[in-house]
Amino acid sequence: MKHSDVVIVGGGPAGRVIVHALQAAEAGLSVTLIKDEAINVNRCAVPYGISPAKPITKYLIPNELVTDFGADLLVERVEAIEPDRHAVRLASGQKLGYGQLVLATGARPLIPPIPGIEAEHITPVRSRDDLSRLRALAKTHKHAVIVGGGYIGVEVAVVLRQLGLEVAIVEMLPHIVQTTTEETFLDEIERDLTDHGVQLFTGAAAKEFLTRDGAVSGVRLDDGRVIDTDFAVLSIGVVPNIELAADAGLETSRLGIVTDESLRTSGPDIFACGDCAEKKSFITGRPTRGEFGTNAVFMAKVAAMNILGRDETFPGVINANGSATFEYSFGSAGLIEPAATAEGLDVVTGSSEVLDRYPMMDHVSPIYTKLVFEESSGRIVGGSVLRRGFATAANVDFISLAIQMGATIDDLLRYQYATHPELAAKPSDNMYLFAAKDAARRRQTVAV
Ligand SMILES: Cc1cc2nc3c(=O)[nH]c(=O)nc-3n(C[C@H](O)[C@H](O)[C@H](O)COP(=O)(O)OP(=O)(O)OC[C@H]3O[C@@H](n4cnc5c(N)ncnc54)[C@H](O)[C@@H]3O)c2cc1C
Repeated sequence: MKHSDVVIVGGGPAGRVIVHALQAAEAGLSVTLIKDEAINVNRCAVPYGISPAKPITKYLIPNELVTDFGADLLVERVEAIEPDRHAVRLASGQKLGYGQLVLATGARPLIPPIPGIEAEHITPVRSRDDLSRLRALAKTHKHAVIVGGGYIGVEVAVVLRQLGLEVAIVEMLPHIVQTTTEETFLDEIERDLTDHGVQLFTGAAAKEFLTRDGAVSGVRLDDGRVIDTDFAVLSIGVVPNIELAADAGLETSRLGIVTDESLRTSGPDIFACGDCAEKKSFITGRPTRGEFGTNAVFMAKVAAMNILGRDETFPGVINANGSATFEYSFGSAGLIEPAATAEGLDVVTGSSEVLDRYPMMDHVSPIYTKLVFEESSGRIVGGSVLRRGFATAANVDFISLAIQMGATIDDLLRYQYATHPELAAKPSDNMYLFAAKDAARRRQTVAV
């Protein structure tokens, strides 16, 4: 039986970053990465890759990102783990021994058991094949229904609409992007979509896919309405790929493969990271969702350090995220207010509306910010931003770092920032400071 010091299952960002971190450490370990997708796609960019403006190859991840970093690559499916023998079994029947094993098996799209789901022209949004299918469908058809109004569904809707298709989004919850976005921002985001011709069916669930000649022809909603369509896109969430781990007797939960703070699973010398692993919240310490590329990468770095014996702890996910519609970008880090309340935190919030540059400059527009603080300690536990243009990620990053550093309302009232007429609000105004001031007022503490 062949043997590798480290075997990684999965070639997404988590798997690849393990390879890079191990090579950077120059520890001289033999590393093998096994993945079942011949070529990986950059998943975050899949919605944008539906546009034929650029060749599909632009959206693919070259396998050299594994092989040029000192790892052997096997394109094959791992069928089973034998923890007692420290070996994995491949689909070919071959076995490979490991010193340490990393499960980075990711997640797969949730396919709801709705009548008609097996019809042609219904596709999820995740893999290279999904992207090819979406490109072909968008090229030859006029009408699309997107089932699921999270950020992925919204991004697909925007791109399809920009390509000239008639697009509808069906979302079971009262609003789209509701689970990651503050309620006060939702009207503006929804208005931007409808102003650009995207139809929204919120508070309605897809009940049945109607078919004609084997292909989807419509979506029936639970309130009886029918939306005619040429194709349907499924973006209602993902399921972590835990089966390999579960079958090997490792502890798993609904949220993924269970690990300790060093990202070790319950199996000897087996780590898990990325979408397949259960995450804990940085803020509450409790298990939470967090299928984001940045979480996968951070977890992979921590797992790699522990493989090298460096005793690194994963602090939990802050879930910094961002997305964009036609005119706006928005995002959040930590807990939005409803999530914080649902977690049982006593919260006080602060909001601000601050211009993105000096008022006399051209193209001035407001930045909307909402910060969430734990009332007793004043510690920031979350924050969200909505603004025109596509600069939101930097704002979300600031909030994420503030959460990580345990910043309080007082810290934000005293933080020192830059200003410039073209780049930021006038000297007296700052989005975070004003939101903190609002929170201090609500909390009835004195603000400077
Ligand atoms: C459309 C879309 C847009 C997104 N946009 C963003 C974004 O803007 N920002 C952000 O932070 N995140 C985004 N994400 C989420 C991000 O892509 C994921 O969190 C990230 O890909 C997770 O990485 P991973 O390595 O854990 O898993 P994956 O990328 O899923 O990789 C896991 C790999 O393991 C392989 N595998 C599974 N089982 C086996 C097996 N038994 N044998 C061999 N191989 C196996 C899988 O085929 C897969 O290739 C987006 C996701 C999608 C789908």
